[in-house]
Amino acid sequence: MGKITKMSPHLANMIAAGEVVEKPSSVVKELVENAIDANAKNIRIFLQEGGLKEIKVVDDGEGMDEEDVRLAFLPHATSKIKTEYDLSRILSLGFRGEAIASIAAVSKMQIKSSRDGKGGYQVTYQAGSMLSSGPIPSNKGTTVTVENLFFNTPARLKYLKPVKNELASITYLMDRIALAHPEIRFMLINDNKTYLSTTASNQISSLMGEIYGLDVAKSLLEESFITDGVEARLVLVKPEIYRANKLEITLLVNGRYVKNYNITNAIVEGFRTYLPIGKYPVAVFYLEIDPTLVDVNVHPSKTEVKISNEEQIILKLTEAIHKALESTILIPTRQIYTMDNNVGYERVNIFELPRTIIQEESQATIETPLQPSIPIEKEETQFILKEDSTSYKTSTQAQKLEEQKKLPHFEYVGQVFGTYLIFQNEEGMYLMDQHAAAERINYEKNYELLGNANQPTQELLVPILLKFTKSEALFIEEHLLEFEKIGFLLEPMSNQDYVLRQVPLWAKLDNACEIIRKIFALLIENKKVDVITFRDSIAKQISCKGSIKANHALSRIEIDSLLEQLNQCKNPYTCPHGRPTIIKFSSNDLEKMFERIQS
Ligand code: ZN
Ligand code: ZN
Repeated sequence: MGKITKMSPHLANMIAAGEVVEKPSSVVKELVENAIDANAKNIRIFLQEGGLKEIKVVDDGEGMDEEDVRLAFLPHATSKIKTEYDLSRILSLGFRGEAIASIAAVSKMQIKSSRDGKGGYQVTYQAGSMLSSGPIPSNKGTTVTVENLFFNTPARLKYLKPVKNELASITYLMDRIALAHPEIRFMLINDNKTYLSTTASNQISSLMGEIYGLDVAKSLLEESFITDGVEARLVLVKPEIYRANKLEITLLVNGRYVKNYNITNAIVEGFRTYLPIGKYPVAVFYLEIDPTLVDVNVHPSKTEVKISNEEQIILKLTEAIHKALESTILIPTRQIYTMDNNVGYERVNIFELPRTIIQEESQATIETPLQPSIPIEKEETQFILKEDSTSYKTSTQAQKLEEQKKLPHFEYVGQVFGTYLIFQNEEGMYLMDQHAAAERINYEKNYELLGNANQPTQELLVPILLKFTKSEALFIEEHLLEFEKIGFLLEPMSNQDYVLRQVPLWAKLDNACEIIRKIFALLIENKKVDVITFRDSIAKQISCKGSIKANHALSRIEIDSLLEQLNQCKNPYTCPHGRPTIIKFSSNDLEKMFERIQS
C-alpha cells in the first residue's frame, strides 16, 4: 500500500510553526483528550525518556473500526464521535482535525483499535507516509504509539527541553486532566516509574490524595455556589500547606483545564494574611458554564480564557473562600525531628490533624459565621485590657460566644521568653506568639476602621507641616480626596508643602507623620490608589506598632483578654503577615519524642 495522502501546504506550515505539536506534552494532551472523548474509563500513558523516545496511550474506550482508523490520519479528519458541540470542542477546534496528521508527520505513529475486543485494525505512519496497515488482535479500545517525535524536524527537536522538564510538563498536564475527571482511572508511567495513579473513586478527597498526597487530602475545605447559570465548586487546601508559585491553583471549566488571570488572582487574594508573603495556596476551582459565555483565544496552545460574567463569579468566589477559611480551625500541627540511631536526625512525618474535633467545631461555626462587632471608640483601636470582659455576660451570650469560638478549649500553662504563651488540653500543647496574636487582633480592628466611611477624626491643635518632593506633591494633589475619605485632611501650602489639619482617631498623634509618609510611599510605589491594598497595608503597619511586643511579661488578665479577643477574629490563626499566631504539638508527638511510644 502506498502513500495515501500528501501533507497539505497549510498543515506543513502549521507544523513548521509548531502550532499543533509543540512538544511531547501537546501529543499527550491530544491523545488523552481523544481517549476521554471515546468514553474511556481507564487511560494509561507509558512514556520513554519523557515522551521523546516513545509515547503510548492505551484506553478502553469505544474504539474505532477500520475506516475510522484510516480517516484519523487524514488532515481535517472528522468522525461520528467528534461532532458534539461542547467547550472541549471549542477549546481545541480548528486544529483538532489536523492533530493526528500532524503528529504522524513528525514521528512514527501507530493507531491500533477495536470496537468489540475481537477483531482489531492498525495503521502505522512514518513522517507523514503510511508504512503499514491491516487487521491485528486488539483489546476493546484504542492504543496509540508515537515514537521518535520530531526525528525529521531537527529544528524543533533543538527547542525541546531536557527529559526531566518534558516529563515535568506532562506530569503537570496529567494532574490537571485527572483533577477534571475523577471518574476516570489514569496511570502515567515513565521508564517504568509511576508518576500518577488514580483510582476513579469519584471522590475529590481521594483524588486529591492520589495527586498531592495524604496530608493534602486531609486538609481540604470545600464550598460550592451557583450564580448566573454558573455552577461552581471550590476545593481549597488549608493554608498550612502552600506553594512558592501559583501553579497549583487549578481552574477547570467544563472539565477542561484553562487559565484565567483574574480568577487565579482572586484565589490568591482570598488567602491574603493567611499565607506568608510570596506563598500561594493549593486550590481547584470547578466551573460548569454555558460554553458560549467562554471566550477562548484562537491559539490552541494557549489556555487563557475570558468568561463573560467573570466579575460576578469572582465576587461569589471571594465570598466562598472567606466562608471556607473562616469556618474552620487552622492551627498547624508542627512536625517534629526525631533521633534515628543510624542516620542521626531524620525528619519523621507524623503529621496528624485532630480530624474529629475540627469537623465538629467547624460544623458548629458554619451556620453562624463570626462577625465581631467593633465598637468605634478610641480605646478599642488598640489591644487593651478588659478586666470584666467575661463576668458581665449573661449565660446565653456566653453560650453563643462559646459556639463561635475558633480556638479549642485549653488552659494556660505559662509564658516562655516573655514571648510565647503555653496552653494545653488533652490533644496536646499549644504555643502562641503573643505579638503575632495581638497584631492579628489589632489588624482586624484597624482594617474595619479604615473601611468605615464615617470614621472618627480628630482635629490637630497644632497642624503638622509636611514637606514633599515635586512628584510626591503632584501625586498628593491628585489624591487629596482619597486621603480625606480615610480621615486625613491636608491643605496645600506654598511650594510642595502641605499642612495636616486632621487625622483619624486610629492614627496616634506621635506617629501620624510616619503613617502618612508610609501611605505616600505606598501610593507612589503602586501609582494608583487601590483601596483594598491600601487598607491592608496601612492596617498591617499600624497594627504592628500598637501591639504588645515580644519580651514582655503578661498578667493573667492580659492573657485572658488576648485570648478572648483573638477568638473573635475572623482569622485568629495567622498574623497579618501570614505568620502563625498559634501552633500545636500533639500529645502523641510528644510521647514519640520522649520515646514513650514507638513511631
Ligand atoms: Zn509585628
Ligand atoms: Zn506579623
